[in-house]
Amino acid sequence: MHLFTGLLTTGLAALALASAAQTPKPRTENVVLVTLDGMRWQEVFGGADSALFRQSKYYYADRKALQKDFGQGTPEQRRQVLLPFLWGTVVRQGQLYGNRDAGSLVNVTNTMRFSYPGYNELLTGAADDARIHSNDPLDNPNASVLEVLNKQPAFRGRVAAFGSWEAFPYILNEKRSGLPVNAGQRLAPGPGLTPGEQLLNQLEVATPSPFGEERLDALTYGFALEYLKKKKPRVLYLSFGDTDDFAHAGEYGAYLHAAQYTDTFLRQLWEYLQADPQYRGKTTLLVTTDHGRGVAGTQWQTHGRDVAGADQIWLAALGPDTPATGMATTGQLYQNQVAATLARLLGQAYAPTPATGKPIGPVMGAK
Ligand SMILES: [Zn+2]
Repeated sequence: MHLFTGLLTTGLAALALASAAQTPKPRTENVVLVTLDGMRWQEVFGGADSALFRQSKYYYADRKALQKDFGQGTPEQRRQVLLPFLWGTVVRQGQLYGNRDAGSLVNVTNTMRFSYPGYNELLTGAADDARIHSNDPLDNPNASVLEVLNKQPAFRGRVAAFGSWEAFPYILNEKRSGLPVNAGQRLAPGPGLTPGEQLLNQLEVATPSPFGEERLDALTYGFALEYLKKKKPRVLYLSFGDTDDFAHAGEYGAYLHAAQYTDTFLRQLWEYLQADPQYRGKTTLLVTTDHGRGVAGTQWQTHGRDVAGADQIWLAALGPDTPATGMATTGQLYQNQVAATLARLLGQAYAPTPATGKPIGPVMGAK
């Protein structure tokens, strides 16, 4: 007995020393980053704004239906209807930032306030206004956190990106990075297509997009989920675009509807992750947007340098290292912190330039 007690004591002391000597290792082994293009914090936290219901032309031309589906009750009830997974699961079990009315601020630091500069800031960890100032399909000179991770042995071939917008092969510089990027009108590449991928490939060529080269999010989601099940990546980036496209079209009802079905995609994705042994309890979900939009009148439809409020964004986190503190009511975060946060969750330091944003401490349980 004495011998055992002695051994046990020595063992515990050694353990205590080891844990004191190093920062706690995150439990996260996989990260899924999701963006909803141009989704405003105003709707995330306030639900549908009935003052904008008149700005629906083709979709939800029946305003009574719009009122019935999205316009009932208090802002707290309306946001629950609009984004039930975000408010039902993420806020209860994770963290949500960007409710400016409550005192939590999240902003982009680039001055462009549109998509390519936003995705560049988000994915590389720093704004680059001098070089990234248009949405033109130009290869990004900056390496993303996805590219950097994919170069490490533990992540090589286990990082992938799926997007509705056809610019992602350029934003992620697939020529240099070698990342698999399925975006725009691309199909799932063979050989070894799953029955789901075969069906999605057929549907994509037979579903002309209302947004030109940018496909509808249902296809992007389908391709991403098939890939997740088949290849089990450790880092998945999933970029949805319908919210932005319907907002630009002045279709408020369709914008709300897109937010709602994207929330359903998130719930289904999370349910899959929690049912799979590689991912269950070891995966962090980060959800955010590339830019905000304007506020008054028809300004919600647009964004850009000269649109007040278009730098205002939001961010959600859910996973094993993220304390369930719910909706933040204080503090200032920036879009340029997401890349380092993603890396830190995987136990990696990411600071390629002095301008790179720092990891968001509270997402990892730090003060
Ligand atoms: Zn846009």
